[in-house]
Formats: sequence, structure tokens, C-alpha cells
Amino acid sequence: MTRAVLRYVEHRITQHPGTDVTFEAECLNCDWKTKPSQDGAAVDLECMRHTGRTGHQSFRRVCTSLALVARAE
Ligand SMILES: [Zn+2]
Repeated sequence: MTRAVLRYVEHRITQHPGTDVTFEAECLNCDWKTKPSQDGAAVDLECMRHTGRTGHQSFRRVCTSLALVARAE
């Protein structure tokens, strides 16, 4: 019979230093997409302008956050 020794180490996850959350969107009807931006409302406005120009109404919105996991000590 083998005996296992389990060790638990606490970790914490945080926003990666020096990075920002970014927002971007792409049209589901054509190849149009926004540039990544830290301003989600500006990306939404760009989508509405695209709808006004083309009638395309569906978008894939992406929010990107880089994370860092480190030992909690
Ligand atoms: Zn489109």
C-alpha cells in the first residue's frame, strides 16, 4: 500500500501587470471588425455605425483580460 502526501499551495489570480482589459467586435455578416480598444462603449458605437451603413445587425463582441497566477505568500 502506498501513502500519498498531498500539499496544497494557495494561489491568487490578478490582472496581468502592465495590461488593460480590451474590447473588440466583428460583424457576423461580413469581414468588418473593430480594432481592440480599452473603451467598450466606443466599440459599441462603431458597431452601431456599421449597422447604419450596411444593415448588418449581428456582432461577436470579445473582451480580453490577461491574467497572472502567483503563489499567495
Ligand atoms: Zn458587416
